[in-house]
Amino acid sequence: MSPVYDLHTHTTASDGELSPKALVVKAKSSGIDVLAITDHDSTEGITEAENEASKQNIKMLPGVELSVTWTDKNFHIVGLGIDPANRKLQASLKETEELREQRAINIGKKLEKIGVTKAYYEARALAGANTLTRSHFARVLIHQGFAADSREVFKKYLVHNKPGFVKTSWVEMESGIKLLKDAGGEAILAHPLRYNITASWLRRFLTAFKESGGIGIEVVTGSSNADEINTAAAYARRFELSGSAGSDFHGYDNTWVKLGKLAAMPASVTPVWEKWEG
Ligand code: AMP
Ligand code: MN
Ligand code: MN
Ligand code: MN
Repeated sequence: MSPVYDLHTHTTASDGELSPKALVVKAKSSGIDVLAITDHDSTEGITEAENEASKQNIKMLPGVELSVTWTDKNFHIVGLGIDPANRKLQASLKETEELREQRAINIGKKLEKIGVTKAYYEARALAGANTLTRSHFARVLIHQGFAADSREVFKKYLVHNKPGFVKTSWVEMESGIKLLKDAGGEAILAHPLRYNITASWLRRFLTAFKESGGIGIEVVTGSSNADEINTAAAYARRFELSGSAGSDFHGYDNTWVKLGKLAAMPASVTPVWEKWEG
């Protein structure tokens, strides 16, 4: 049997529910053979996960999900097989952390104006010392009764033209890819169909992404239906990108996303793991 891959997951180092250790235990019991941990702009979970992975005899790839900006739009790029000790990568992650902190303070101010109590403080308390994301604000909004679930939060708050939205520019896409490559990793566009952009903008993005050294695109995600897989596969073929598969597992209320339970990679796409299997 071919190995089971899940190459996009989150832990408590960013906005996941499970500790790195608990995620690896769950991955093992879910039948995953190769797991990538890809927290938002953080590699803090990797050492703990690696220790557990060697105990559990499961292969773990160190990864990160970088927030990047290209022509005023934000994208997520998953870096697979990075060296977390890489200095330049860590320096950039530190800058992103500072941008996130500023953004969070500003999100907090905006949410207080609509009656959310101590929004920044509560979100920071949920994140602890870890990467503070909009997901943490989503939990605060849900706790305080402003929305029933995260789906509702990301419709009514924290997004463009809604209360609590703060526009932010992250590292430039080209620089982000270079950082990942220089740290020994491969750059994969995360969830290509989840950016609110037209198909022509996505094609423009993919042209630039490929020119900048991006090598892959997520064709199968934990929430992809058959049509979406076909659409993403067509982008992979058209731009000669490898296909990746990752659940984007967070735990919490998106319980429909299951760790390691991913649809098959279409045969028309070269999987990113082809060259690893040898
Ligand atoms: P940030 O990187 O801080 O802007 O936060 C982005 C995170 O918010 C994503 O990684 C998801 O975990 C979460 N998120 C964004 N949009 C949605 C959505 N529509 N439904 C649920 N979670 C979302
Ligand atoms: Mn997230
Ligand atoms: Mn993402
Ligand atoms: Mn993710």
